[in-house]
Amino acid sequence: MPARNVGYDRNNIFARILRGELPCRKVYEDAFALAFHDIHPKAAVHVLVIPKGAYMSFVDFTATAPPEMQAGFWRAVATVAKDLGVEDGFRLVSNIGPEGGQIVFHFHVHIVSGPRP
Ligand code: 5GP
Repeated sequence: MPARNVGYDRNNIFARILRGELPCRKVYEDAFALAFHDIHPKAAVHVLVIPKGAYMSFVDFTATAPPEMQAGFWRAVATVAKDLGVEDGFRLVSNIGPEGGQIVFHFHVHIVSGPRP
């Protein structure tokens, strides 16, 4: 398992959004996570949820984040789905590594629901 921060680019787009250096269409924020609309939505609802920490991927996050952070993050994901009104039907997607189609190397999950816009 990779150690925390190994290869993490602190200037990746989502790190910059977290620091407020780049704008986003925010839908939710708490101590553990920030959620915002994907800039290129692939469905009527397409929101990204990111943890407030330097984790590259799902693998990095689940291997190295403290339990409180992991619980807080997944609780935030569930809250966002509920707030969006999609809790009865949505996809939860996380692309992991270049072979998995990951483009932004700050761990995130996609909440996707409904037809293409
Ligand atoms: P992934 O890394 O999971 O393959 O994809 C990254 C996702 O982030 C893509 O769906 C892309 O549209 C989205 N994205 C990339 N840059 C930005 C940005 O600057 N703002 C927002 N809101 N979404 C972005």
